[in-house]
Amino acid sequence: MRRFGGYIAIMLALLLSACAKREEPLYQQQLLTFGTLVEISIWGADKSLAQHASSQVGADLQQMHNDWHAWHDSPLVRMNRALAAGESVTVPVSILPLVQKSITLSRASEGMFNPAIGRLIKLWGFEQDDLPIGPPPDLKAIDTLTKQRPGMNDLILDGSQLRSTNPAVQLDFGAIAKGYGVDLAIARLRELGVQNAIINAGGNLRAIGKHGDRPWRIGIRNPRGAGVLASIETRGDESILTSGDYERFFEYQGKRYHHIIDPRSGCPATGVISVTVIADDAATADAASTALFVAGPQRWRETAKKLGITQVMLVDDKGRMVATPAMAARLRFEVDPPPKVTVTPL
Ligand code: ADP
Ligand code: MG
Repeated sequence: MRRFGGYIAIMLALLLSACAKREEPLYQQQLLTFGTLVEISIWGADKSLAQHASSQVGADLQQMHNDWHAWHDSPLVRMNRALAAGESVTVPVSILPLVQKSITLSRASEGMFNPAIGRLIKLWGFEQDDLPIGPPPDLKAIDTLTKQRPGMNDLILDGSQLRSTNPAVQLDFGAIAKGYGVDLAIARLRELGVQNAIINAGGNLRAIGKHGDRPWRIGIRNPRGAGVLASIETRGDESILTSGDYERFFEYQGKRYHHIIDPRSGCPATGVISVTVIADDAATADAASTALFVAGPQRWRETAKKLGITQVMLVDDKGRMVATPAMAARLRFEVDPPPKVTVTPL
C-alpha cells in the first residue's frame, strides 16, 4: 500500500510539473502606452514574476511617456519653453540620456535624425493627439522655420546644464523615445530576473534570450496592406526597428503627408516608405531607422555607415526592396510570391 501511495505521489508530481510547464512558458501582456500598443512577451519565468515584471514595465513606460511628452504639459515641454527663451536649464534626469544620445546620433547621421525640429513637426500638425486632416502648411511658414536651421549642434550641454544658441530649437524625441523606452524596459526585466523576453512598442522591439529551445521569431509589417511582410529569427540580444510612412499621416487631395520630416526641406521625407534596421540597442536602431528614411534611396548607405549600422532593409516609394547582405540573409518572406530584393553592400 505504501509503495502504491509512493507511485501516486510521483505520478502526481510529474503531472503537476507537466501542467505547470504547459501553463507557464509564455506570458504575454498588451498595454496601451507611449501612444501605441506595447506587447510584452516573457518566456520561461514564473507567472507571478512575469506579471510583476510586466506591470513594472508598464509603470516605467507610462512615466517615460509623461516625462518626454512633446506637447502635453511635461518636463520636456517646460524645458523647451526655457530653452527658447534663451535660459540655461538643468535637464531633468529622465531626459538627460535622451539629450546625450540624440546629440551623438544626430551628429553621426549628419542631421538626418534631428530632434531639434519640433517646431516643424508641430507646424505639420503631428504634435497633437488627433491626426491632422490637412491642408498642408503654408510653404512660406515651412521655409521660414527651415531657414532657421534648428539642430542639435545649437545645444550646449555642460554636465546637466543645457542651453540653446538658436531660439528655433524645440526638442521632440518622437524618433528615439520609443526605442530608448524599450531599452529601459528590457533593463528593468533583466534586473527583475527575466532572461527571455520581447518588448515590442508598435513594431519597435528588442528581444533577449530565446523562446524555449528555439529563437524568437518576429514579424516586419507590410508597409502597404495588412499583415507581415517578412519574419526574422532573433539572435540573443537584438533590437529591430522600423520607421514607416504609414504610422502617422494624412491625405490631402490624393497626396500622403506623413510624420517623418526631412530637416533639409522642412517637408515629409520622400523616396522611401519603410526602413527596418537591426542594431544592438533600440535607441540607436530607432534614431537610425528615421535617419535612413530621411537620407532616402540615394544616401541611406552613407548614413548607415556613419551610424555603424550593417543590417538594413528599405522599401522605396515604388515598392522596390533593397537590403544589405547581412539583413538579406536573415529575411524570411511571409508573402507569396516573395518580393524581389536587391542585395546591396554598404
Ligand atoms: P515611428 O513613429 O514610425 O516609430 P520614427 O521613429 O521615424 O517613426 O519617428 C517619427 C517621429 O519622430 C515623428 O512623429 C516626429 O515626432 C519625429 N521626427 C520626424 N522627423 C524627424 C527627424 N528628421 N529627426 C528626428 N525626429 C523626427
Ligand atoms: Mg525612429
